[in-house]
Amino acid sequence: MGSISNDFEFVADKAMTPLLTTTTTNPMNSDEFRRQGHMLIDFIADYHSNIEQYPVLSRVKPGYLRQLLPPSAPYEAEPIEEIMKDIQSHIIPGITHWQHPSYFAYFPCSSSTAGILGELLAAGFGVVGFNWEASPAATELETIVMDWFGEMLSLPKPYLFSGDGGGVIMGTTCEAFIVMLVAARDQKLAEIGKDKIGKLVVYCSDQTHCALQKAAKVVGIRPGNVRAVATTRAASFALSPDSLESAVLADVEMGWVPLFLCATIGTTSTTAVDPLQPLCQVAKQHGMWVHVDAAYGGSACICPEFRHVIDGVEGADSFSLNAHKWFFTTLDCCCLWVKNPDALKRSLSTNPEYLRNQASDSGGVIDYKDWQLTLSRRFRSLKLWMVLRSYGVANLRSFLRGHVAMAKAFEKLVAGDDRFEVVVPRRFAMVCFRMTRTSEGSGSDDDGGDEGANNLMNKKLLERVNGSGRVFMTHALVGGIYLLRFAVGSTLTEPEHVMEAWKVIQEHADAIQGDYIHLY
Ligand SMILES: *Cc1c(COP(=O)(O)O)cnc(C)c1O
Repeated sequence: MGSISNDFEFVADKAMTPLLTTTTTNPMNSDEFRRQGHMLIDFIADYHSNIEQYPVLSRVKPGYLRQLLPPSAPYEAEPIEEIMKDIQSHIIPGITHWQHPSYFAYFPCSSSTAGILGELLAAGFGVVGFNWEASPAATELETIVMDWFGEMLSLPKPYLFSGDGGGVIMGTTCEAFIVMLVAARDQKLAEIGKDKIGKLVVYCSDQTHCALQKAAKVVGIRPGNVRAVATTRAASFALSPDSLESAVLADVEMGWVPLFLCATIGTTSTTAVDPLQPLCQVAKQHGMWVHVDAAYGGSACICPEFRHVIDGVEGADSFSLNAHKWFFTTLDCCCLWVKNPDALKRSLSTNPEYLRNQASDSGGVIDYKDWQLTLSRRFRSLKLWMVLRSYGVANLRSFLRGHVAMAKAFEKLVAGDDRFEVVVPRRFAMVCFRMTRTSEGSGSDDDGGDEGANNLMNKKLLERVNGSGRVFMTHALVGGIYLLRFAVGSTLTEPEHVMEAWKVIQEHADAIQGDYIHLY
């Protein structure tokens, strides 16, 4: 019974005898936790080792699970062994394997041993650190880790606690958007009067994440007062400061009040980078709050050669990054830094009697409940701390550089095949590309301008590639172009998976070109 695996076999043998007395007397029995926990850790380790046996994209049909599971919850307790059987046979087929090495869809959600175990540890402590007293370590570790991480990204001092700012960990960027908009709104309305809320205007580009539109709606921005400034392919879909300025000047002339600009570093469709320095200049002339959404691209800033993408960030007011996207910290972990936390606290503070305590009253501690929407909060800093310590800056940089190198190699393959084109120059670890019909072997050379047919052909290509189960990619539609996104970022991806993906894409491109020769 010395090693873990022996322990496991020992209890597994007894699985048929009633185990339930312990679990039913107390649902947090340490012996049962140890036994089931070891079993589950082994299960997860095996899942990661054997993940390539599964199709990347799940093949189930809508409603599949209702046919497999009973209509009601069990009245009597069920043993973990039974539950795990159902996980294997019913749940796994309905999983799209985000951690699969051939996963290149959306933006991957890079996981890691440290991230997963940090998540487990946070659940193990089970603390709810809404204020300092509710768990001092939860609050203090978060402030330390946010300064560490901010320093790694070379964020200017005013964003850090060691300056006059500070950071907070939220669930997702959607929450960060709402919280920043509320702070900016209240600050502006204190200046111009509460009755002017209908005058406020929020600016972004037509490539800004859709969550901003939702957030603006939630905080009461008048419908129609979110200006999604048009971008162009010629400018790689980045927001032009001149276009922003024209939009703002036209609005000001009409009596609207500019409130907020959301600039993006690494847009979701094509990883476009909005130029912060000139955008902040325009925004500041008109008294706007500038938020920088670096959900995906921000991580790259830990590498000195990428830091320039956020040049000018010193002119903005807040900056957010999803550590659960390209930073090996499991969902959820959105890191938000603000220069003026007081603006946040003025909008979001609550002070009910039942939460009063000496530490809070002294004013000398942070109560994170006042920095966010929800009261209760998870101990998320633990997993980010574990990621930073377990790998160190050196390894984290080389993980990211490895992904970038694989994307570069893929870009080269695409560029070297004249049936394909790279739609916008690659940034970070994502390649935007498509098949074109003006190529050799398509049987025609006069229909290259027919975007509709091109788009349809690429849509078919994507369906076939994803249907193969060997690769999963997604698409975007920008400037009327339907493009395929090849996003490297899954932790298990190796160069051979990129080569294999390219092979799959080429095979299906061959087949599709065959179809098109028939059709045209
Ligand atoms: C993924 C993404 C978001 C949304 O992030 P959530 O954490 O899911 O809310 C916002 N902006 C950009 C640029 C993204 O890539």
